[in-house]
Amino acid sequence: MQCPLLYRFRVIDRLPEKPSAAATRGTLVHAVLERLFDDPAVERTAPRARAMVPGQWDRLLESKPELAGLFAEDPEGERLAGWLAEAERLVERWFTLEDPTRLEPAERELFVETELESGLRLRGVIDRIDVAPSGDVRIVDYKTGKAPRPEYRDGALFQMTFYALVVWRLRRVIPRRLQLVYLGSGEVLTYDPVEADLLRVERKLLALWEAIRLATESGDWRPRPTKLCGWCDHQAVCPEFGGTPPVYPLKIVSVRPPESGESGQGRMDLAPPAP
Ligand code: SF4
Repeated sequence: MQCPLLYRFRVIDRLPEKPSAAATRGTLVHAVLERLFDDPAVERTAPRARAMVPGQWDRLLESKPELAGLFAEDPEGERLAGWLAEAERLVERWFTLEDPTRLEPAERELFVETELESGLRLRGVIDRIDVAPSGDVRIVDYKTGKAPRPEYRDGALFQMTFYALVVWRLRRVIPRRLQLVYLGSGEVLTYDPVEADLLRVERKLLALWEAIRLATESGDWRPRPTKLCGWCDHQAVCPEFGGTPPVYPLKIVSVRPPESGESGQGRMDLAPPAP
């Protein structure tokens, strides 16, 4: 959906990408918010959560030693200290938006996977699922960035309706509420989906997969430059920036119709129908 050529570089060419400090901070904050629920409710306080940040960073480094490269040129440790302090601020801000002493999540960091009737498999990892005594399901996702402007909210909610569709298919229950918690700006965005929303996202996913299939067969992956290009690791091989993509590694089996467009992430994933 963001950029077809970027999809090709990541999924087909599997070009390496440098770890980013912002994305890694997001992973760190998510780990703290998940682990905090291991503690008894009364101990889930802001000072306790802040104090967990350095320890969770050590755990992250243990599992991914390459992340040490983010602070390789920081002999005094100043950048690392500032980065950790920002992670602590984000964690602390969460307490102004939700009260973990009053929450008992049904699930945390839940891997979900389902297969649509067409055979398309959907997978994702949901940050948190709350289930009310009434049985109502709420899907919660934490974002360490700022809430999008109103005109970009549909894009943000697409990921949530994707999760809702997967949960609906798995549990036969339409989640009552989708909740995006923006720690960067201290805002909460909610949406109560109905069946028509989930059917719409299913149709969109099928169209998306068809566009991916056509592009895979034709090798015609077009760049779609946006301001997000500034975050892209592949400018050197992107025609929009004067680069040349590597030789297409797959066999080209068709020519793409010129009018074909493609509208083609992270924690949200599409997989082809099983052969
Ligand atoms: S630089 Fe921009 S247009 Fe080029 S591949 Fe990356 S996201 Fe796409």
